[in-house]
Amino acid sequence: MPGGHSQTLRPFLWRAERLYPDTEIVSRTHEGRTRHTYAEYADRTAQLANALDEYGIERGDRVATFCWNHTRHFETYFGVPSTGAQLHTINPLLPDEHIQYIVDDAADEIVFVDASLAPKLAGAADGAAEFDDVDFVSMGSSEIDALDATPYEEFIADQPTDYDWPDLDSDQPAGLCYTSGTTGKPKGVEYTQSMLWSHTMASQTPQGIPMEDSDVVMPVVPMFHVNAWGMPFTATAAGAKHVYPGPSPDPADLAALIEEEGVTVSAGVPTVWLGLQEYITGGNDVDLSTLDTVIVGGAAAPRSMIEWYDDRGVEVLHAWGMTELSPIGTVSHLTSDLRDADYETQVDKRSKQGLVVPGLEFEVIDENDEEIPWDGEAFGELRIRGPWVTQEYFARPDASEEGFEDGWLKTGDVVTVDEDGYIQLVDRTKDVIKSGGEWISSVELENAIMAYDGVSEATVVGVPHERWQERPVAFVVAADGVDREALVEEIEAGLREDYPKWWVPDAVEFIDEVPKTATGKFSKKDLREQYADQSLVEGSVPKNDAPEQE
Ligand code: AMP
Repeated sequence: MPGGHSQTLRPFLWRAERLYPDTEIVSRTHEGRTRHTYAEYADRTAQLANALDEYGIERGDRVATFCWNHTRHFETYFGVPSTGAQLHTINPLLPDEHIQYIVDDAADEIVFVDASLAPKLAGAADGAAEFDDVDFVSMGSSEIDALDATPYEEFIADQPTDYDWPDLDSDQPAGLCYTSGTTGKPKGVEYTQSMLWSHTMASQTPQGIPMEDSDVVMPVVPMFHVNAWGMPFTATAAGAKHVYPGPSPDPADLAALIEEEGVTVSAGVPTVWLGLQEYITGGNDVDLSTLDTVIVGGAAAPRSMIEWYDDRGVEVLHAWGMTELSPIGTVSHLTSDLRDADYETQVDKRSKQGLVVPGLEFEVIDENDEEIPWDGEAFGELRIRGPWVTQEYFARPDASEEGFEDGWLKTGDVVTVDEDGYIQLVDRTKDVIKSGGEWISSVELENAIMAYDGVSEATVVGVPHERWQERPVAFVVAADGVDREALVEEIEAGLREDYPKWWVPDAVEFIDEVPKTATGKFSKKDLREQYADQSLVEGSVPKNDAPEQE
């Protein structure tokens, strides 16, 4: 028969165990750090697989987790899919009714849950019929009373440390992750063995997020969010050391792990890296000398952040992806032609979402259904396809109908593509502000505002407006002790200089915190709902005194 063996996850661990038996997997826990080697990890993974068999999990069944990033959670990453079962990582930050819906939709039979998250899960499960047939395993060493959960160590104890791993087909479902829909119920995305395999291989190319056996990899992005961007698999493929930051790590926890474990590669949303930045500029001395690269994605990496980390010898690698893409789609590496370019040009490119990783194809379609030119100006919706891009939503023909066309995933992201092929996200189709028929990029305004000293976070949303349909309003979280009035004046004057005047927000409002979605993104929906009454922009039109707009 032509062709090779199936594309599955198992060989990645097989190789790491054989070649790097002594390389460590470290985890921050409430009780301190745990340390295991790949050899021990492989044994424990086999024990978990045996325990799942004994419990009655069969090929195709779903096993759920409700956990932060730690070694036991990582054990489920190979232990569950390599038996032929499917790992369903639940996002514990979702509202209760979404959790109930997800557990029911996925038909989860067993949920592995962290002690610190048990109250949240118990709350969602309380009286909910969706949980009637669900059993719980406590990821801590002790029982969780509220859920009648078996301790993990007891669950795997006495099981053999080898397992007869089955030969699986490439299209065997291996993972399941729900993405928060902009409207309605969360949508499930299934990852097959070959999607995860090909995503890992693409990640390992120089155009992806490559790792080596000398690397120390710390995924800060949660393991419940698209498999921590696939990093646990990629790091294993490389034979790298893993460092898991455990329950709700704060900047001080991350700093300690970076310094003490010698972290070289890390990844997370911009908020994480802004947090560390503020921690350091706030007077805490942190040795970042081992840290080569931080992969920043999930939301746009502000230019000011890229420069700040550059100054400290840490490369920010801006990446774009989606749950539907397992998740990596583009990474902002410099092409060889740009390596001699001046710093400003390089940062311009690196601030964009980047170049498509090898293996994927994309097209960008404008409002007239035409493909846009690659000139960095024209924009349209990004569509993408490839071996690790899903082709449908789990059991949701309605959402699948809407989300895909001719085999392309319609990303809902509005982008430009420049002459060199760098993709830049201008907006979500749903977040773009349409003022007087013209589009205003909320992302661009946000980045501009966040570059001002004294601004911790900023988001810009479109608020309904009688004359212009929508007008931008900026919501700013000010740093402590800032003169707010002066800050608003400075921002408004600066924006007026750099942007068309109709782009300048009609109001700058101070808030204590930008509301976040369950995946850590700014929740514009919440702000939009809060300010839907137009009170912020009524009568403020004079600021936008160009009726035709430029
Ligand atoms: P999720 O499926 O929750 O990972 O969300 C995917 C969405 O996050 C994308 O469609 C983008 O709108 C947004 N996103 C991901 N990465 C970036 C990035 N680097 N810059 C801006 N937005 C991003």
